[in-house]
Amino acid sequence: MKCSYCDNAVVYSRKYAGENLCSNCFSKSIIRKTAKTISKYKMIQSGDVVGVAVSGGKDSLSLLYVLKQISLNHNFTLQAITIDEGIPGYRDEALELVRTFCSKIGIKHNVYSYKKLFGTTLEQSLELRQGEKISSCSICGILRRRAIDFGAKELGVDTVATGHNLDDFIQTFIINLLSGDTNKIGWMDPEPTDRKARRIKPFCEIYENEIVFYAFTNEIPFQSEECPHMNEGIRTEIRNFLNLLEKNHIGIKNNMYKSILKVSSKTRDESGKKWRTCSSCGSECTGNRCAVCNTLLNLGLG
Ligand SMILES: [Zn+2]
Ligand SMILES: [Zn+2]
Repeated sequence: MKCSYCDNAVVYSRKYAGENLCSNCFSKSIIRKTAKTISKYKMIQSGDVVGVAVSGGKDSLSLLYVLKQISLNHNFTLQAITIDEGIPGYRDEALELVRTFCSKIGIKHNVYSYKKLFGTTLEQSLELRQGEKISSCSICGILRRRAIDFGAKELGVDTVATGHNLDDFIQTFIINLLSGDTNKIGWMDPEPTDRKARRIKPFCEIYENEIVFYAFTNEIPFQSEECPHMNEGIRTEIRNFLNLLEKNHIGIKNNMYKSILKVSSKTRDESGKKWRTCSSCGSECTGNRCAVCNTLLNLGLG
């Protein structure tokens, strides 16, 4: 079978669009879609230094590669940021992968370790927990956020880009819905607010399976092994449920994405949101002390 746009052989069928694509046209379409998302939500401004948070998984490495190609025709530069949590084995493999890939495509790779920033690795900080009130993923997420902010500041980064895709976006919405966190739903809009540290998700309109195929067809080597601490619980169930729905009702994820944007903008409640400055670190937050500093303090690291 021939590609819908050229004479090459088909390697990917984009069912929701009725397109059959060769490898070249597929890859070009991912770059085009990402560029469209970036411009639609004003994610990157002219002259920006974009820090890409690269874990070594398929999403972040593909994002780095796609942004690299977009940057060739646009006025922004890239820095790759990897956070070393100090998870033995798991992180070492990813670090090597990212290092090699960055040097191959000519992007500077910057590593920030928990050990250096907090004086503790993730493993050690997990032992500081009192009881099991806070999950390892929550601690790790909070430490990672702080580490990325630190790196972004040091590197003069204007915008931090993460590899979250459309599936992640929908899953997060459902998790917020199921946990009753309607406040978070109001803040799901992909357009960055004018807060100090801009965060963007340029893949938020691309299906996860298309990212997997993009990495595969562009021979991007990625770490497929999952973090040994991963206990995503309900997210995995929602992921499977959404994939089943999509299989039986092609395009349903795209519909849901559009609905979430509308629900999010209608749910947003800015009345109670007063940005203040964290008394410990000076970052923006809504209380006296930010969530990151609170957690670090509770762990005895603040
Ligand atoms: Zn083609
Ligand atoms: Zn703080």
